[in-house]
Amino acid sequence: MRSKIVAGNWKMNKTLEATETLLAALAAKLPDTHAEVMVAPTFVNLTGAVQSLHASTIQVIAQNMHFAESGAYTGEISADMLLNIDIDTVIIGHSERRAYFGETDAILAKKVVAALDKNMRVMFCFGEELDDRKSENHFKVVETQLRNALFDLDASVWNKIILAYEPVWAIGTGETASPEQAQEMHAFIRKTIADVYDTSVANNVSILYGGSVKPGNASEIFSKPDVDGGLIGGASLVADDFVAIIKAI
Ligand code: PEP
Repeated sequence: MRSKIVAGNWKMNKTLEATETLLAALAAKLPDTHAEVMVAPTFVNLTGAVQSLHASTIQVIAQNMHFAESGAYTGEISADMLLNIDIDTVIIGHSERRAYFGETDAILAKKVVAALDKNMRVMFCFGEELDDRKSENHFKVVETQLRNALFDLDASVWNKIILAYEPVWAIGTGETASPEQAQEMHAFIRKTIADVYDTSVANNVSILYGGSVKPGNASEIFSKPDVDGGLIGGASLVADDFVAIIKAI
């Protein structure tokens, strides 16, 4: 059975104090839910967030990590460093990492393997650019991203993978994929995984949608059968909006 998940990606936002204020509001307002709820504060606030949430079911996850165990990688963070502060889930492949930090499919494949080797869960992000969709290449682009980073993995590790389909044209733009577009792509992703692996792997992987999910559109997107939740950027920075999105699932 795959999990329903709502995750907030806080990107490079909020000081420690502001992080703790937002977490306190979220913890206080968190509705009863069958879904896993996750937040990804920036690195320097992870320890504080873990401490703030010690009595809450909200999980703290990381926005990124390096593929090396340790060494001369100035500014980077390793899997062991995350595990050491009780973070066992990491976002890999966010479109901003791909676009602004030159993270290629080959680099992402190494990061995925490094995280899985440490028994971490990976929330793997991918999605097409606007031009890909306009030229009707979006299915091909998505399939290639998945193939290059994930399809060499053994089926046995797929219980550690969460997928987040995030069309780049919908991230932070206020433009959302329609529920039908999201469902169409999620069904395609699940079928592709079933073809490469089998239906058990495909049916057990959670596939989240990300891209301008808001309280006003979350219910309709989450109602689609292959949409198992959302990765939320901007709206996750406002407690009432994030709580409304959690309620929508
Ligand atoms: C994201 O960055 O993963 C994201 C989905 O952002 P937003 O919700 O702001 O579009």
